[in-house]
Amino acid sequence: MQRLPSLQIVWSLLLLFLIVPAMGGAVKAGEPVTIRCGLPSEAEVALTFDDGPSPLYTPQILDLLAKYQAHATFFVLGCKVEKYPWLIREMVRQGHEVGNHSFSHPRLPQTGQLARERELETTRLALDLLGCPQEHLLIRPPYSAFDDRLVSYAAHTHRQIVLGSIDSGDWRGLGSEAIVQNVLPRVGNGSIIYFHDSDEKEQKNRQPTVEALKTILPVLRYRGYKLVTIDEVMTENHH
Ligand SMILES: [Zn+2]
Repeated sequence: MQRLPSLQIVWSLLLLFLIVPAMGGAVKAGEPVTIRCGLPSEAEVALTFDDGPSPLYTPQILDLLAKYQAHATFFVLGCKVEKYPWLIREMVRQGHEVGNHSFSHPRLPQTGQLARERELETTRLALDLLGCPQEHLLIRPPYSAFDDRLVSYAAHTHRQIVLGSIDSGDWRGLGSEAIVQNVLPRVGNGSIIYFHDSDEKEQKNRQPTVEALKTILPVLRYRGYKLVTIDEVMTENHH
């Protein structure tokens, strides 16, 4: 057990280097640490995509978002960021927001403190190295599973935990029509919608998500919604 304390010291020092630059981030006093939906006063909807990026599905989704003048937020896995850095650059280039979905998709409440910090900080570092704007430092915990320790960690590191208000159910392997039916009847001002552009093992077919977006995007635009990032859906517009 002699090695454990020294490892902890090394990791604590490393964390200092990783966290200190994150201090003074965008979370202002009084802003919620945990977000479930945006402002009800604005006709805005935030689409979010977890578990990617995927070289197969993410480019199709980026094309559709561009076609309908939509911006979205991608909660990416650090392991995929390292594998497909060009997709992260493309998201940023097209004005989308990129958030942290951990490195390898564990259930964070069942993960020890050091391991969970490593999951989040390694991913943040990978995004930093790609020049990803990290001023908002959004975290979506895998399975949306979190505990009080994660809430206080997020607060201390000036981050927000982003959940959502509508589950498209695409992660369950639904067809595109079922995904559309899970989403469209429920959408309102400030909705934050869960979609998936990949899965942690890259084995699942996400084409139904892509096909569903071909219906969802034009309908939401027709209904007058602006499709925006998490940062925008949380910010009041001054008309
Ligand atoms: Zn996930």
